[in-house]
Amino acid sequence: MSEKILEIDNLTVRYKSGNADVHAVNGISISLEKGKTVGIVGETGAGKTTTSLSIMNLLPERTGRIDSGTIKFKGKEILDMDYETIRSIRGKEISMIFQDPMTSLNPIFTVHEQLSEAVRMHSNLSKEDIDTKVKNVLNMVGISENRMNNFPHEFSGGMKQRVVIAMALINEPELLIADEPTTALDVTIQAQVLDLMKNLKRALNTSMILITHDLGVVSEMCDEVAIMYAGQIVEYGSLRDIYKGDKHHPYTVGLFGSIPNIKDKSKRLKPISGLLPDPTKLPVGCYFQDRCPHVMDKCRTIHPKYYINDNHKILCHLFEEDKHGQ
Ligand code: SF4
Repeated sequence: MSEKILEIDNLTVRYKSGNADVHAVNGISISLEKGKTVGIVGETGAGKTTTSLSIMNLLPERTGRIDSGTIKFKGKEILDMDYETIRSIRGKEISMIFQDPMTSLNPIFTVHEQLSEAVRMHSNLSKEDIDTKVKNVLNMVGISENRMNNFPHEFSGGMKQRVVIAMALINEPELLIADEPTTALDVTIQAQVLDLMKNLKRALNTSMILITHDLGVVSEMCDEVAIMYAGQIVEYGSLRDIYKGDKHHPYTVGLFGSIPNIKDKSKRLKPISGLLPDPTKLPVGCYFQDRCPHVMDKCRTIHPKYYINDNHKILCHLFEEDKHGQ
């Protein structure tokens, strides 16, 4: 039987902004099996990063608040864990790769010092064993061990991101959260880094949450896909459901319509008009109503329920006549 690494159920997250509540994540559920990758796709402000920060229990203390829901890692509730327990899991069992390598690397320490520290925090290994681990992980990500005493500024952008990946993988985590890991890189380097992550994931059987707005990256890397809009998962399914299926949420259709078609250069892009709704004043009914080409009267008054077909879910009134879920 497949082992569940992560189960998020009905997660709701708010930020306090002055007198207003920012409704960042609005009742999402995700289930991830060992060794699998789920891609979370959506535009800026959709709630992707807030979801990953919640899993790491890293929401800003004064402003971020989990209102409801559960996040279970290997069957244990993360939200009930005390500080020491979650600290022992972070960086060891669950690691995160952030978008900009310079926010993850400390400019005043060498790569060796930073990688060693990541190991030392979670083990009692001898200095020699830590050195061996550092050299091995640098070799894994394609950086010569001769460079380990260099500072981050002595590396190119792509190399820095490799160091960040090495840092995330050095303790062989069971779950890797990669938040736009290639967005800050040149296209050619992006492909190299994605290949590297794919190979390392396979070698270590790591489960992964890949946060991105790039559907090309998702098709390369993921087993399942969650399309997020205004803090909700509006469509969820296998790679096949999302890329080859015949039923889709209008937002998913819009995302695919925004990608250039290399086979048909005369085809014009169809951008999704309008903007995300104000997260402090989400509308009654469907959150996509002001941008949807299929909007109906009831979309403005009634919040849709999920159409569910096996693992494929779509949050839209258009599929009302079909199977219904929650
Ligand atoms: Fe469009 Fe209505 Fe479906 Fe929302 S519920 S995506 S507005 S058709």
